[in-house]
Amino acid sequence: MQGRPIRALTLGHGPRRVLFIGGIHGDEAEGSYTTAELPAAFTTAGLSDRVTLTIIEDANPDGREAKTRANANGVDVNRNFPAPNFDPTDPMNGGTPLSQPESRTVYRLIEEIDPDLIVVMHSWHDRQFINFDGPARQTADRFAATSGLPLTASTEFAPTPGSLGSYAGRDRKRPVLTIELRRGSDPKADWQQIRGALLEAIGG
Ligand SMILES: [Zn+2]
Repeated sequence: MQGRPIRALTLGHGPRRVLFIGGIHGDEAEGSYTTAELPAAFTTAGLSDRVTLTIIEDANPDGREAKTRANANGVDVNRNFPAPNFDPTDPMNGGTPLSQPESRTVYRLIEEIDPDLIVVMHSWHDRQFINFDGPARQTADRFAATSGLPLTASTEFAPTPGSLGSYAGRDRKRPVLTIELRRGSDPKADWQQIRGALLEAIGG
């Protein structure tokens, strides 16, 4: 940890609780434009009475600064959550769950908020799609239909032990929506494409 703050912003005061995470892999900055635009769009959409939205601007600010997937300790924050499938054998996973300040911060916020939906921004090397963990199938289907991003099943990926989706989605049974933008894409075009679907998902 190099002392960079993990900043969170809470908007609205409605009963539905949503946590949006702008990024967790430092070399996947594509979601930052969407993260910056979201507060105004949320307010304009009139969701404040229905939803309390907490936005974590960036869960891995040291990695973002260094443009590395991992944090300053060389740990993949998205493998350091206390899921039953946590894998202690790979040093990149951090040895024990929640050994990293970034994962501890996100974990504490999830426990505190107990969100009805978690949305996480990532990017993928050659294409855009969405993915989900936990009871988020309907939300993911609707997001795919509105945005045009294809829904890709978790079974198409390598296992993700100790991921946020494993912990919050599969273990805690919270709907987790993962948005994968295409690496190097135009962030303004991405925002235009996913804006409606994102507000729809947040509104519930
Ligand atoms: Zn990622």
